[in-house]
Amino acid sequence: MANVTATIITIGDELLIGQTIDTNSAWMAQRLNEIGIVVERRVTIADKADDIRLALDEEIPRADIILMTGGLGPTADDITKPFLCEYFGGKLVLNEKVLEHVKTLFERRNKPFLERNRMQADVPDVCIVLYNEMGTAPGMLFEKDGKYIISMPGVPFEMMSIMTKEVIPRLQSKYVSDAVLHRTIITSGEGESFIAETLEDIEEALPMGIKLAYLPSPGIVKLRLTATGGDETQLSKELEKYQQQIADRLSDIVVVMNDIPIQELLGNALREQGKRMALAESCSGGYIAHLITQVQGSSDYFQGAIVPYQSKLKNKIVGVDADMLKEHSAISEEVAIELATKSLAMFNSDYCLSVTGQLSHGGEDAHIQKGLVWMAVADKDRVKTKKYLFHYGRELNKELTAQIGMLMLWKFITGRI
Ligand code: ATP
Ligand code: MG
Repeated sequence: MANVTATIITIGDELLIGQTIDTNSAWMAQRLNEIGIVVERRVTIADKADDIRLALDEEIPRADIILMTGGLGPTADDITKPFLCEYFGGKLVLNEKVLEHVKTLFERRNKPFLERNRMQADVPDVCIVLYNEMGTAPGMLFEKDGKYIISMPGVPFEMMSIMTKEVIPRLQSKYVSDAVLHRTIITSGEGESFIAETLEDIEEALPMGIKLAYLPSPGIVKLRLTATGGDETQLSKELEKYQQQIADRLSDIVVVMNDIPIQELLGNALREQGKRMALAESCSGGYIAHLITQVQGSSDYFQGAIVPYQSKLKNKIVGVDADMLKEHSAISEEVAIELATKSLAMFNSDYCLSVTGQLSHGGEDAHIQKGLVWMAVADKDRVKTKKYLFHYGRELNKELTAQIGMLMLWKFITGRI
């Protein structure tokens, strides 16, 4: 079967000048990819009728589906809706259901209902209205030459809600006859190219409908197998066979055969064992605690973090020996161990991870090599340490510290180190 193709058009002057980063396109492309629809073009244009016309004239003949976001709000500069109405030869009519919803939103927010808000309930009489539970501007679905042209608000969480509830199910029933399945393996410890080399023969022998993708992110490489075909049960069996074959080949670096963030993986391991953890974060400044507490229910296993950022606080609050700090500097194996073991005792915890490092130049440890990070993990009986030298900018080095730190603790907890 020929590929079903899509173009994504994002509208907004703020996107063109880089004031807002176009995260909508990436998110929508991922959702389409998951159901086997091929995104061939992504276009960003200004909030101008002529530019929208030009883009649609160009894209409608080449793609099966056009997804658009932006320019639907109550402000005067949002011209997308009246333009689309004219483009598809309709007229704006009041939609009672949308009006009710918009009024309820304003009542709930205790805001006066203005004429320009009433206008949000006007919709072209040539479209299917896609209800927007999360906001006031509804989405719209037009059909032309058997193709879907869908317009949604630019506010990311509104777009996501409309996509999930209204758009994806419609696209699936209209275009997707084949099943599309994914299986993921998360690895850590080797780079993309090494993995590709190791898997070369397996990858070459993959059957037609199965593809392998490498998705690197800080500290990990995800391997994703995608299969398309008619029989879902058969496909799933086959996919799992290849997933296992790859996992066996990469056994040393496989973390999990599931697409979950490391903080969840860590949380699951702690919950299974009925154990709790604490953190002593220096260079990561509380970021690891932030990631861990993004997971719902993390209070079951996460006790807390201490962030003794300045050297003297490592001594004053955590009790790291002052002479040791002077002799070895705050970024050293000795201090990482002290931070982990002393914090473990302070929190009366089962496990503690400590990180101390120099993410970029400057500050009180300016003489230390940039990117040097020491980590330690401890329980009552054991301590393990590891030294890293990260080569990126401050932000990415912090991300790496967090991901690798959490992975190190997970390996410790599950007996891998
Ligand atoms: P509103 O009702 O808020 O006016 P709208 O449909 O008119 O919604 P815009 O005015 O284009 O949408 O944008 C609304 C908000 O969503 C702005 O904060 C904008 O920066 C953000 N936004 C718009 N497009 C994108 C995009 N492609 N990626 C991420 N954010 C976006
Ligand atoms: Mg707007």
